[in-house]
Amino acid sequence: MSNRFLVAIVFIISINAAQCQSTNQHMDFETYDPVSTLVVPRHIVTHAKFPFIDVHNHQWNMASQDLSELVRSMDTLNMKVMVNLSGSNGTNLQRMAENVSTHYPNRFIIFANINFNGIGNNDWTASAVKQLEEDVKHGANGLKIFKSLGFSVKDNSGKLVRIDDLRLDPIWDKCAELKIPVLIHSADPKPFWFPEDKYNERWLEIATHPERKRSDTDPAPWDTLIQEQHNVFRKHPNTIFIAAHFGWYANDLATLGKLLDSLPNVYTEFGAVIAELGRQPRAARAFFEKYQDRILFGKDSWAPEEYTTYFRVLETEDEYFPYHKKYHAFWRMYGMGLPDDILKKVYYKNALKIIPNIDKTMFPD
Ligand SMILES: [Zn+2]
Repeated sequence: MSNRFLVAIVFIISINAAQCQSTNQHMDFETYDPVSTLVVPRHIVTHAKFPFIDVHNHQWNMASQDLSELVRSMDTLNMKVMVNLSGSNGTNLQRMAENVSTHYPNRFIIFANINFNGIGNNDWTASAVKQLEEDVKHGANGLKIFKSLGFSVKDNSGKLVRIDDLRLDPIWDKCAELKIPVLIHSADPKPFWFPEDKYNERWLEIATHPERKRSDTDPAPWDTLIQEQHNVFRKHPNTIFIAAHFGWYANDLATLGKLLDSLPNVYTEFGAVIAELGRQPRAARAFFEKYQDRILFGKDSWAPEEYTTYFRVLETEDEYFPYHKKYHAFWRMYGMGLPDDILKKVYYKNALKIIPNIDKTMFPD
């Protein structure tokens, strides 16, 4: 090899190294937030096309809260009814229901919660059922089961209580008798069980919320918890269940569809999983067409400015627009452009069918 040739190669390599230094600096995944240059039609929807019922909301201080500000925010969004799943039970629930009935009787629905303390004592089941009956008498219109069942609820012997524990059966049956639905959140997104590595779609969420990381022994495999939930659905066909968060199958709609096919007593809502739908607008739209009678509107966390992402995915055919939390979705959203008849079902008609005592006169036909 000639000297001249060698010099030329060294020269090229050093140019490349210099270019790398100036244009390929390391940047954190969290920092990288490119501004899209795509120019396409944009429809920022801040007010839903139809009045709607949010079946998955949490207001912890409803007993003493001034509800007027909340109602003002709801009006801005076109939310006619908010379902507060954090109704607690006993005196607390009664005081929440009183505040609502005194000030805004037709704007809020309250779901009761079970107090699992003492499960395993001889009279626990009977008193839990009696408490639920009283809570319904005092104004509860549904039962919410938190993910603590399956994750952390223990009986009086210190054993983790399974979601399909036999001691809970009379509660599910009582809900059928009282004609109230059970909204149940079990487990969490499946990637929380995966290794916390560069392949995990929820890596950022685990990194920023390490307490959400799970494993097969903390407390149980994801499939086991989900199976236990489905066992309850199957064993109590007269009870209406709403599987929260699309049953954590928003990223696998074919499986969710099979579940809904086999269990006509099960409904679902898309709280906190709209990003899954927004990344598969064609499959999601087909799913909404097929299961239009089984899907309810849910959001979960009360952050009024985030509803626009939900409306946009449901109502528009916008392309490549941002989601509001990078740790849920580092990808962009696409709208499903649902037709009015399906929007009406999802926004209010399906909820009116299964949640009692909502004022139907606030909604169009
Ligand atoms: Zn929730």
